[in-house]
Amino acid sequence: MNQKFEVAIIGGGVIGCSIAYYLAKEKMNVALFEGNQIGSKSTSAAGGMLGAHSECDGDFEVFFPFARSSQYAYSQLKEELNHLSGFDIGYRKGGILKLAYNESDRNGLRSILSQPTVKWLDKEAVREREPDVSSNLLGAAYMKDDVNVMPIAVCQAFAKSAQILGASLFEFSPVLDIQKKDNSFLIQTATSHVEAKHVVVANGVWSTTFFKQLGLDHQLTPVKGECLSVIDEKATLKHTIFHDHYYIVPRNNGRLVIGATMIENDWNERVSLSGMDTLIAKAKTMLPTVADMKLDSFWAGLRPQTFDQKPFIGHHPEEEGILFATGHYRNGILLAPATGQMIRDLILKRQIKNEWVEAFKIDRRQPLLLRR
Ligand SMILES: Cc1cc2nc3c(=O)[nH]c(=O)nc-3n(C[C@H](O)[C@H](O)[C@H](O)COP(=O)(O)OP(=O)(O)OC[C@H]3O[C@@H](n4cnc5c(N)ncnc54)[C@H](O)[C@@H]3O)c2cc1C
Repeated sequence: MNQKFEVAIIGGGVIGCSIAYYLAKEKMNVALFEGNQIGSKSTSAAGGMLGAHSECDGDFEVFFPFARSSQYAYSQLKEELNHLSGFDIGYRKGGILKLAYNESDRNGLRSILSQPTVKWLDKEAVREREPDVSSNLLGAAYMKDDVNVMPIAVCQAFAKSAQILGASLFEFSPVLDIQKKDNSFLIQTATSHVEAKHVVVANGVWSTTFFKQLGLDHQLTPVKGECLSVIDEKATLKHTIFHDHYYIVPRNNGRLVIGATMIENDWNERVSLSGMDTLIAKAKTMLPTVADMKLDSFWAGLRPQTFDQKPFIGHHPEEEGILFATGHYRNGILLAPATGQMIRDLILKRQIKNEWVEAFKIDRRQPLLLRR
């Protein structure tokens, strides 16, 4: 292969595939390189919550509006992608109940409860919706717009739709090197090289290799997350229930996903017994009936974390043709559509909200204490 493309995307997780889709929709000549199988890394490990409210953590200036725009995009994409690719992305309404067992939990929810789209439900109202949930509750914050999707299906739907619209996808083609050549870039894989005017680095936690090659000393830290799934024969749960970073997500396929541990700096993608122990104990406190359900599967993945837990989305500080879309940490599924649209708009030089450009650019200021 010795071809020329307008854009080469490195990484075929949900972020790279969303970018490929939005660019192919604009009839751009796009190639996507995935070192493994499309969606096989962090993307396939995700719970699939679109937690604009539940993950907001008080950031109403940047994260919340960006995440809400992405959540909104999903409500359109579910039909758009299905129509194009035939994939059902498993969009499931119900929303998230963020549980409070005591006043301290309730205080932690105060900031998000200030949003008109979030409602406080007392224990009786929670149990009316979810009769099997723990009886030790004080109540819950109900985030009805925080619906969920099937992450691998979203990724495959983006990839397939991009391909149908003309994008070239190369699986099992790890990119080894990026070299500048006149006004474009040479992308070297194990077996071939291609030329591209723009390169988007979107290979999740492994992006650090390219930061180094491209003269940046940034780093992404893996935060390993383990999950398991059980078969919910009686379709017990209608809403995602969430407490203290742990959750149970009901999926359209009759499975409940129980997640997730948070282990910083662990590159090992295997599941530990202690991780499973923690998840089972936590799940039983939220939903005691889970103890009788049959085990379906278990897995782990690496969340790509930046120094401030916000993604890097934007141009290389000195090389306009190089862009980054990486470091989406706990929210890559949620933020994939908004990220794809932002990269499209940067390449096509369309207008973008300045606060998003500033908040996500890779050369934003690092807090002094964390500067490496
Ligand atoms: C347990 C767990 C639960 C999660 N739950 C949620 C959730 O509920 N909601 C949510 O929004 N997010 C969730 N996340 C986070 C989300 O999964 C990630 O933020 C998201 O998948 C990141 O997508 P990505 O495309 O950047 O990375 P990845 O999915 O890791 O994709 C990167 C791809 O790049 C490829 N690659 C690496 N190096 C190269 C190379 N040199 N050349 C070519 N390809 C390369 C890899 O093979 C990989 O497929 C969760 C994560 C975990 C681990």
